[in-house]
Amino acid sequence: MRKIVPVFSRKLSHVCSLKPYKETKWMMPNGNPIGAYVYNCVADQKVPVILNDPNIATWYSCGPTVYDSAHLGHASCYVKIDILQRILKEFFKIKLVTAMGVTDIDDKIIKKAKETKSDFRTIAKQYEHEFWLDMASLNIEKPLIVVRVSDHVNTIETFIQKIIESGMAYVTKDGSVYFDTVKYNAYGKLQKMQDAGEPADQYKRNKMDFTLWKAHKPGEPSWKASWGEGRPGWHIECSAMVSKFFGSQLDFHAGGIDLQFPHHENEEAQSCSFHNTRQWANYWIHIGHLQLKGDNKMSKSLKNTVSIPQMLSQHSADTFRMACLMSNYRYPMEYSDELMKTAESVLHKFKFFLKDAYNYVNNNATENGDYKYQLLDSLQNVEELNLKVLRSDFDTASCINNLLNLVIKTNRLMKLENSEFYPIPVLLIAEYITNVLTKFGLKLQESSDNEVPNNLIDTLVEFRHTVRLNALNRKDKELLSACDIVRDQMKAIKVQINDSEKTPSWVLK
Ligand SMILES: [Zn+2]
Repeated sequence: MRKIVPVFSRKLSHVCSLKPYKETKWMMPNGNPIGAYVYNCVADQKVPVILNDPNIATWYSCGPTVYDSAHLGHASCYVKIDILQRILKEFFKIKLVTAMGVTDIDDKIIKKAKETKSDFRTIAKQYEHEFWLDMASLNIEKPLIVVRVSDHVNTIETFIQKIIESGMAYVTKDGSVYFDTVKYNAYGKLQKMQDAGEPADQYKRNKMDFTLWKAHKPGEPSWKASWGEGRPGWHIECSAMVSKFFGSQLDFHAGGIDLQFPHHENEEAQSCSFHNTRQWANYWIHIGHLQLKGDNKMSKSLKNTVSIPQMLSQHSADTFRMACLMSNYRYPMEYSDELMKTAESVLHKFKFFLKDAYNYVNNNATENGDYKYQLLDSLQNVEELNLKVLRSDFDTASCINNLLNLVIKTNRLMKLENSEFYPIPVLLIAEYITNVLTKFGLKLQESSDNEVPNNLIDTLVEFRHTVRLNALNRKDKELLSACDIVRDQMKAIKVQINDSEKTPSWVLK
């Protein structure tokens, strides 16, 4: 077990002063700083990422409760988690051991099974299968470890037993088990508690106490434990399953912002009690909600959900990922046509730039190529700046902005009349941009369902370009309007033409 030391025992001039909560403050891990800072809700500020092993980190994400189809709220949460994990792996060179827990026993699954007269396992299997298909369609990497509650009931039972023995949990008359939040003096670590008041439940000792084990109800699936028959409560699942694989310490623990309280608070409380430690998860990562205009979060209960296939019928997975990259992972993201149009146009700017850059290098009539040191300096500046912003709480939005500025600068040079020919910096910049975007999980591919061969599109686009230039010279409005019609019709078959270039270019939407 690695040692942890109170944050106040170390000097960090660039981290502002922490709130001195008694027993609830964030403890700085003892180990190897990786040079990155991440926001932590316990410290309420960015804290340095310190790993026990300089190159290895563990990451657990709370997974879905598989009772229904996933929606865009889930998509944005898991795409953003995927981006953060890719940054750790690709930019910071950390070997990440990822795990996710799937809740396949739950009130909602049991209800759905009753409604559809099927077994709860069938419901869970069906929606979990669909969940992974949805995640794959968004280019989300599957966690290395996927754990299901129904496979780990014994692990969970042993976990609860130890907490009961430590005196931090109690068995009630009906055979349920509750965690005693008053006995655990760090409750409220993740979210400061208001006055708890009186418990609403007759079996609870204190209002904030939560179930570790739910007593059996007729007609519901159950398992036998030494204190009585029943099934695991929701919060205990993650703690017990994570501990089985990662032991008494966890580097990153992620989930939607709605899980911060009570789910993650409870996970931390019961895990610290089980492991007899003062800090279990070192870094809590909470993803902001996806909202609809004027609405709160997208959720089944509000009946305002958009399914993942529904979104993908209108936009590419790359466009959705770009929207996620352009927003701060911690804050709410408002899903709208404007957001998707902006994301699509940014994505197209990069795609057009890459095509133009390779065209510029391969089709340039200038005899001698030359270096452009100023442009190489700009590239180096952006490389350094991007590492800096990513190290500051994964600031992908600034990173995308820096790349766009580099594109503008390079475009200006490529389009300059009678300019020198600079193939080396242009190629290096194109390669760097491709590299960063693919490291973020963008595919940058042309869609495979397009049945029109690329060389045919090339021919048509070049022909239209020649006709359009002639029409512009002759101020032939009729011919210009015909060119516009061709452009719009091409757009309808997902071919977007860029007219602003010296040489025409196109990308598939
Ligand atoms: Zn969880």
